[in-house]
Amino acid sequence: MTGDAGGPVPAGPMVKAEGVCKSFGQLDVLKGIDLEVAPREVMCVIGPSGSGKSTFLRCVNHLEKINAGRLWVDGELIGYREKGGKLHELRDREVSAQRRDIGMVFQRFNLFPHMTALENVIEAPIQVKGLRRDAARDLGAAQLERVGLGDRVHSYPNQLSGGQQQRVAIARALAMEPKLMLFDEPTSALDPELVGEVLDVMRGLAESGMTMLVVTHEMGFAREVGDTLVFMDDGVVVEAGAPRRMLADPQHERTKAFLSKVL
Ligand code: ADP
Ligand code: MG
Repeated sequence: MTGDAGGPVPAGPMVKAEGVCKSFGQLDVLKGIDLEVAPREVMCVIGPSGSGKSTFLRCVNHLEKINAGRLWVDGELIGYREKGGKLHELRDREVSAQRRDIGMVFQRFNLFPHMTALENVIEAPIQVKGLRRDAARDLGAAQLERVGLGDRVHSYPNQLSGGQQQRVAIARALAMEPKLMLFDEPTSALDPELVGEVLDVMRGLAESGMTMLVVTHEMGFAREVGDTLVFMDDGVVVEAGAPRRMLADPQHERTKAFLSKVL
């Protein structure tokens, strides 16, 4: 199936962050993030509001420029070219090419309201990849089928529930056949009864072998689907490890304090 990361598994990490720092003016938001996500790994990131989780995800696909450190996706330095020991910024076109391989799903679905589910899903493959309309429609229908919305291809966003809209957003990201999927609190804006259907789709995606970096407050998902759990606080990775172990036996006071509030 398209987009299910069924190709050869890269030898190196899918994501590698080395000393990543990001400031907004005087505010130091990321203070040296080091982490690695292996191909096919599901890494869940938790942490208090304002700790820099969204900023980190946005750095991974270069929606934010980092101030120090290095970020690689599938071995490719993000946003820069290294030449003679110096970093040179990539052109917009080159950044777009890197971003094309990285799917992102936000808390808010950001679907085009005047387009059907199918039109939303095929927009980027047509505009960005230059896919022909009929080929794109087949691809789009397959992706909507994959998120359980095969019967809603012609529905408009306002005819869909929040959970269905978020599943369209996931299908839209998958239609670009990304090698990495970033999720930023994908279920936080949903009514509680709609959370499960989105998590189920994400679980299926994980089982298909997709590499995923997921900021979430869903501890059940982190425990059952996550290979690694990362606790961020105040711009640093405080603790990382196997989810079950970390949730049962956090090593740091800050992790303990946070978990005692959310578990
Ligand atoms: P989290 O996702 O963990 O809640 P964020 O990454 O959204 O945290 O934000 C971390 C900090 O960075 C917050 O203090 C936030 O106000 C600040 N911040 C995020 N984006 C910007 C921006 N574009 N300009 C200024 N400050 C920002
Ligand atoms: Mg956030």
